Parts: sequence; structure tokens; C-alpha cells
Amino acid sequence: MADGPTARRLEGKPIADEIRAAVAEDVIAFTAEQGRPPGLAVVIVGRDAPSTVYLEQIIRGCAKVGIDARFVELEGEATEASVVATIRELNADPRVDGVIVQMPLPPTIRLRSVIDAIDPDKDIDGIHPLNAGLLRLGYDGFLPATAHASVEILRRSGIEIAGRDAVVVGRSAVVGMPAAFLLVKEDATVTVCHRRTRDLAARTREADIVIVAAGHPGLVTGDMLKPGAVVVDVGINIVDGRIVGDVEFESAARVASAITPVPGGVGPLTNALLLTHLIRAAERHAAVTAPAPAAGR
Ligand code: NAP
Repeated sequence: MADGPTARRLEGKPIADEIRAAVAEDVIAFTAEQGRPPGLAVVIVGRDAPSTVYLEQIIRGCAKVGIDARFVELEGEATEASVVATIRELNADPRVDGVIVQMPLPPTIRLRSVIDAIDPDKDIDGIHPLNAGLLRLGYDGFLPATAHASVEILRRSGIEIAGRDAVVVGRSAVVGMPAAFLLVKEDATVTVCHRRTRDLAARTREADIVIVAAGHPGLVTGDMLKPGAVVVDVGINIVDGRIVGDVEFESAARVASAITPVPGGVGPLTNALLLTHLIRAAERHAAVTAPAPAAGR
């Protein structure tokens, strides 16, 4: 038996490049038609949060394809009321099509108040309860971009999902649960695991597809996988200054048939999909605000 990794690497970057090229064309068409580019506002409360780097990447990615993206920055001591008021202003701003809010928020600000304030039609990262509910019901809404990416990388890599047994490790509202609902929508049979799952390895060993979104480096190892399983590693952890996933890549790649690398798997696709969500929001926004056609004679 070979010692080295045998699994196919499911690279996110080439797929993300394809998506970005299509978005760039859509942005050109939208801008020509509307006389303005699609607009994204990213609300940040203080610049210290670890997510700021990720949000800067999004802003740069938008600029590259012609989207008007900007930070709306509040002081680190901003009150919940001022964050909510800022979001409401952005909801009413005709040049803004999408709103993202930096997570995690300072502990003094209640997440629910902020999420509820976002206009669901501008909620391009799918965190508003309306969009979460639409996903739960299997209807179209805005999807959380990371969960979307974790399933889209399977679809775009030609991995069959329908009828297969899937395990999702992690049940967060932004990644694990929406990924599980998306897999169900794709006709997989899905088990969701979390910290209280009694025997995680017994669950993952049963699965044809394993999506891991736990925030725990090396949680899933090769001996926890069924030979030939497909593994999607959503985790982003910094260990000894290196970015690593939630899956122990070396051992997993010897057992799996396909696996996403970290970095370079789900991450690049997440950012690209967020742009597609923004274009969709902008097109819907433009259709809603378009002047009514003049009455025919
Ligand atoms: P989270 O809110 O902390 O949720 C983690 C989930 O994993 C929880 O449901 C938790 O269970 C479960 N879990 C943690 N340790 C476990 C263990 N030992 N065994 C079984 N389940 C365990 O994290 P998140 O926001 O969903 O993010 C998950 C990971 O994805 C993180 O590494 C994050 O950095 C990464 N991420 C990546 C991207 C990307 O673009 N690739 C974007 C966002 C996040 P309980 O519910 O029981 O606590």
C-alpha cells in the first residue's frame, strides 16, 4: 500500500477564479444598465477583531471586479443602538445592495439585535432569521457563504451527493447547520455531530461525505474515515503561525478519495460566492426600485 497521500485535492481557487470571472462580467453589465456599480458595505466595530483581515480580503476582491465596497467603521466602544442605527441607514441607502457585519461583535452588543436589523434583501451572508428560515424550508434565500462553499465545492468538483451518507461535524448557525440543510436539499442523508456526540469516530466512519467545521485543529484523522470518503475541511486555525484545518490532512489524505486542502479549499470559494450573492442582491434591488413602465396607450 502506498504511504503518501492518494486522495484527489479539491482545490477551491480554480473554481473561485471561474466564479469571479463570471461576476466581473455581471458587474460590467449591471453598471452599464444602472449607471452605478453594485455596492457592498461592511460594518466593523473597531479594527481589532481577527475577522478584519478576512473582511479586508473581501473588500479587495470586490474592488478587483468593480464592486463598490467599503468599510463602515464604528468605534470599538460603539453602543448596540448606534450599530443598529448604522445598519438601518445602510438598509435605506440606494447605493448599497449588500451589508455584512463583522463577527464576533463586542460582548456588549447583542448579536440578535444586530442580525434582526439587517434588511433580509441585503443580507448577502445569510444570517438574518428570514434567510435562515428560507434555507430550512428548502426555499431560495441568501445562504451563509461558508456553508454554501462547503457544498458548492463538492458540486463543482463532480462529487455525487444525492443518496450518500454525510456527516457534518459542527452545528453552528453560520456553518454546520446551514451546510447540513444544504446537503439534505441535495438529497444526502445527514448526521450532525457536536461536542456532546458520544462517539464521533463511529459517526464519521459511516460517512461517504464528511464536512468538518469545528474550529479544532486535527480533530478528524485518517483512522476516523471510511476508505474512499470525501472530506471537506472548513476549519481555519492558526497553529505555530501556520493555517491548518480541522482535519489532519496527511493521515486523512491516505484514506479519503478526495479532500479539500487548508488553505486553498473552502476559503477561496467562500469569498467568490459572496460576490455572487452580492450581484444577485443588486439585481433584485434594481428590479424592485426600477421606475414603473409608463402606461401604454
Ligand atoms: P463555532 O461557532 O465555534 O462552532 C463549532 C462547532 O463545532 C460547534 O457546533 C461545536 O459543538 C463543534 N465542535 C467543536 N469541537 C468539537 C469536538 N471536539 N467534537 C465535535 N464537535 C465539536 O465555529 P464556526 O463559526 O462554525 O466555525 C467552524 C470552523 O470553520 C472554524 O475553524 C472557523 O475558523 C472556520 N470558518 C471557516 C470559514 C471559511 O471560509 N473557510 C469561514 C467561517 C468559519 P457544540 O455546538 O456542541 O459546541
